[in-house]
Amino acid sequence: MKKEKNLRPILFFALIGIILVSALLFIISLLTERVTPPVSINNNSVASRLEYWEDAHGTVAKDVIYEEDQSIYTSSYIGEYKNYGINPKVSKISKNGWNLILLNKNNILPDNYQVNLKEIAGSSIKIDADAADFYNKMYMEATKEGIILTPFSGYRTVSFQRKLFENKIEDILEGIPAYEENRDKEAVGEAVKSVNIPASSEHNAGLSVDIVSRDNSFGETDEYKWLCENAHKYGFILRYPEGKVKSTGVEFKPYHWRFVGINAAKEMKKTGQCLEEYLKLK
Ligand SMILES: [Zn+2]
Repeated sequence: MKKEKNLRPILFFALIGIILVSALLFIISLLTERVTPPVSINNNSVASRLEYWEDAHGTVAKDVIYEEDQSIYTSSYIGEYKNYGINPKVSKISKNGWNLILLNKNNILPDNYQVNLKEIAGSSIKIDADAADFYNKMYMEATKEGIILTPFSGYRTVSFQRKLFENKIEDILEGIPAYEENRDKEAVGEAVKSVNIPASSEHNAGLSVDIVSRDNSFGETDEYKWLCENAHKYGFILRYPEGKVKSTGVEFKPYHWRFVGINAAKEMKKTGQCLEEYLKLK
């Protein structure tokens, strides 16, 4: 009997403890519950077709990137992000020529920008038809010297870029507790650092090619070295060089090559300027 009496307070406190811990866990689960992201993809045909493709084929097929209807794009897309600190202006083409259009987080493509596409050598990837002719010459010269360029990504529609951007926002939101103030703005601000906003990617203009090696370190390959020495002869530049983050807003990307035309590429190669610096002085 004495033994039972001594156990009672222990059981009582254990019960209280369990109740307190459960209550705490419940409160935490309420606080961290995911809320609907503020910037979501409308369930329009573009998103659903992409989803269908992903379901059916496991990955987003490159064909889809070409097939999207470009005419649905207008810069009003970007208006959705205004409340989150993104307010780019529409880039001008006429002053410096189509091949020198500036695209970054402050400068986006004009409405309904049309790209004439053409396949590039060594892949089924397409880029701007005029730029493709220069790329193909570069590809042939490289091949002669035993360098095989492997393009991984070329033209992308603005709709596809939008999907990439919004997926990124959703990923980031998952990591921010629901009670945090300005979490939407924070997520959009973070997303901008790694994914171009819709209509601001050079891939949307068909002017850039991502050239890759089989592993992640393209910057250490012979292909990269060859491009650094020769790409300017064919009008291509390394768009995001090391040490230019202040001007470009983008970290070093050894695989991203942009067509700007031979004259501009040669001049930038000579002076060591990035595109932002070059255009500022024009
Ligand atoms: Zn790229």
